Amino acid sequence: EEIITDYARKELKSYKELPINFYQIQTKFRDEVRPRFGVMRSREFIMKDAYSFHLSQESLQQTYDAMFQAYNRIFSRMGLEFRPVMADTGSIGGSASHEFHVLAESGEDAIAFSTESDYAANVELAEALPPAGERPAPAEEMQTVATPDQHSIDEVADYLEVDADRLIKTLIVLADDQQSVVAILMRGNDALNEIKAEKLAGVYSPLSYATDEQIVEALGCNAGSIGPVGLAEKGVKVYADHATRTMADFVCGANQDGQHLSGVNWERDLPEADFVDVRNVAEGDPSPDGKGTLSILRGIEVGHIFQLGDKYAKAMDAKVLNENGKTEIMIMGCYGIGVTRVVAASIEQNHDDKGIIWPTALAPFQISIVPINYHNSDQVKAATDSLYETLNEAGYDVLLDDRKMRPGAMFADHELIGIPHRLVVSERGLKEGQLEFKSRTAEEAENVEQSDILDFLKNRLA
Ligand code: ATP
Ligand code: MG
Repeated sequence: EEIITDYARKELKSYKELPINFYQIQTKFRDEVRPRFGVMRSREFIMKDAYSFHLSQESLQQTYDAMFQAYNRIFSRMGLEFRPVMADTGSIGGSASHEFHVLAESGEDAIAFSTESDYAANVELAEALPPAGERPAPAEEMQTVATPDQHSIDEVADYLEVDADRLIKTLIVLADDQQSVVAILMRGNDALNEIKAEKLAGVYSPLSYATDEQIVEALGCNAGSIGPVGLAEKGVKVYADHATRTMADFVCGANQDGQHLSGVNWERDLPEADFVDVRNVAEGDPSPDGKGTLSILRGIEVGHIFQLGDKYAKAMDAKVLNENGKTEIMIMGCYGIGVTRVVAASIEQNHDDKGIIWPTALAPFQISIVPINYHNSDQVKAATDSLYETLNEAGYDVLLDDRKMRPGAMFADHELIGIPHRLVVSERGLKEGQLEFKSRTAEEAENVEQSDILDFLKNRLA
């Protein structure tokens, strides 16, 4: 972003040059903490990145929409099963953002989809609606219960024989000043959404959990028995996921080691917290657009588009003259495709026990030619070389396997590396004027008249 913004501020002078889009396909280096799965997440990879410049939100939106459509066409043509989903704009800032995810069990991202509408969002972003309905009146007295050696939510729930959803867990994170702490309350079974949490006012970003020493210092007890009662009096800011708002007679830590409180109720036993959306949505939650429920699938992020707004241009003073002859800060969009990751994601979706099955658009070669006895039979060599030339001239990307190997071993290699189509040239076939053709996904090979080969391929590979 900075490099391109610098380039743009030097090159662009007038609104007449806008909108404009700069792009590159280049090696990227990132100090990934956990590189893994080969080219799926590496410290060096290839990315297509593009940056657009505008003077109005309307123009940015137009380019963004065009990019959105182009990305859909690109990934469709690649034969990928993918979904565009709403995404968090993260540290890069900006307003609108979409990620393109290839659906795969092995994906690192969780994606929430509505069962009844087009709603799709990365779980990092997906909104959890506040619970409907009112909070029941307190029915129990608050009391301290001994929970010796019970630390996790499940342990405490089992020990007290209550459902984990009756428990409130208390997470302690660092405040903005990195000294004091903030408490976040969650329903027992829910998972904290760290992206939502680090956006809460007063919470340090990136989200950092308080260490055991920081907890003892701030609250006077150990992490396993923290609870919300009395926290506000200690001057600790308390946020609570809004799923906890309708809970009554709940169980929580007692701020004393080995003790919990049961029959706890908002207002009566502790002041109402600041209720916010801070959990991950879960399978079966209502969709935020009000249509249907959410189901969660895993995805691999292969593309990402953002509206950056003036974040970079403002900081770097990237201006052009507008229609009135006045200088004006530009606004930007940025658009990335993980070129190397696409390759890995495609294999993840298209393979069998023999190896890769490339979709035509991604295959390094469309056709392989496997001659039998290339090195001993002049007839096979001549027919193979001429076939290779004919196909190349017709515009096909052809791999000629002239290794001195058994046909079976060559076939296995071509299946392993996923070449979509294979032609075999043999003395036996040539005698009948025939070649043998087999697609990577076909069960059986079939014979094709040598003289018809171009027409045949034109039909088959269309
Ligand atoms: P991730 O969330 O997977 O770390 P990102 O959101 O940081 O990715 P972007 O800045 O959006 O990545 O980069 C654009 C695209 O580059 C991503 O959509 C992804 O396909 C690809 N990409 C990002 N990091 C890597 C990496 N370490 N290795 C391979 N591809 C990557
Ligand atoms: Mg991204």
